[in-house]
Amino acid sequence: MTGRGVCYIGASVGIVLMPQDGETTEQLRENVDLALYRAKHNGRACACFFNAEMDSSARDRRQIERDLREAVAAGDIGLVYQPLVAAQTGRITSAEALARWTHPVGPIRPDVFIALAEECGIIDQLAEQLLRQACVDARNWPADVRVAVKLSPLQLVSGKLVETVGAALAASGLCPSRLQLEVTEGLVIRDVERTFDQLEALRSLGIQILIDDFGVGYSSLRYFQRFPFDKVKLDRSFVEQVTQSNAARAIIQAVVGLGEQLGMAVVAEGVETHEQMEALVAMRCTHLQGYLFSRPLPVTTFCAMLESQRSVVPRQDSQAA
Ligand code: C2E
Ligand code: CA
Repeated sequence: MTGRGVCYIGASVGIVLMPQDGETTEQLRENVDLALYRAKHNGRACACFFNAEMDSSARDRRQIERDLREAVAAGDIGLVYQPLVAAQTGRITSAEALARWTHPVGPIRPDVFIALAEECGIIDQLAEQLLRQACVDARNWPADVRVAVKLSPLQLVSGKLVETVGAALAASGLCPSRLQLEVTEGLVIRDVERTFDQLEALRSLGIQILIDDFGVGYSSLRYFQRFPFDKVKLDRSFVEQVTQSNAARAIIQAVVGLGEQLGMAVVAEGVETHEQMEALVAMRCTHLQGYLFSRPLPVTTFCAMLESQRSVVPRQDSQAA
């Protein structure tokens, strides 16, 4: 039944039993939290008893969380750089900064630890460190090479982003026009106006704003009406299909058309083969990124690549690029 004045109330319940699930109030509270979390996770409106398996996965998670806090405090999360090349010339025009954390048990995927940093409230601190590092590194690159740093949606929540970015630029001496910030569509859905106000303030400093992973998730063409993005990065899933799927080609062409009309560069990411590269160049994507050109590199290797700035487009295909 729906209608005005009708309100639905649901409850999820976590249950602990004493003494087997804990002997102190603190222990019982922690464990009932885990049971409640599981109940909510199972689809809400249900009850869940605590069990020891919940405890061990929570303990693993807590351990990783502690390690991550320590790594952030110690500045142990680093960056690698993946070049983007101009589709017409094959020259490196910018690099995307990607976070890396080598945990004592081995590397942890960046999407995993970034999500964890968001959950445990240390994303601002981590993101600020990475931004500062990227600005310092890029300061040593040729003046026509930009650096792209990813923004986590939560960085727009605190309201301090513009200040943080300004401070990182000032501390490094990097010219604002050499910094690009990559946002995802997910970032824009939270509080649209507040988000765009902050992005406008950043853009007015001369920073370029890119929309990443375009075409998946909560794509809205209306964002292009609201905000003049400098570049749109086509999601890898379209690039992967470009040689097989008419639909993928049609979508890429539509985005390229949009870019040409609105004065936005269009980046194809995840380019792995010559065939994909040729198709994307023919479709007038302006920039290309992917393993075909280079994997993400430690900064010193990337600098060596820049120094020679020879075309990173494979030789036999340099005409096409
Ligand atoms: P993303 O934004 O889609 O980043 C691109 C990912 O695609 C990177 O993985 C990159 O190494 C990978 N990639 C690049 N070229 C190719 C290719 O040709 N083929 C394939 N299969 N993959 C390619 P990575 O570095 O593991 O990052 C994964 C995700 O972690 C990123 O996805 C992003 O969501 C997140 N992430 C990484 N670094 C940061 C960061 O500094 N800040 C934030 N907020 N998120 C980050
Ligand atoms: Ca991406």
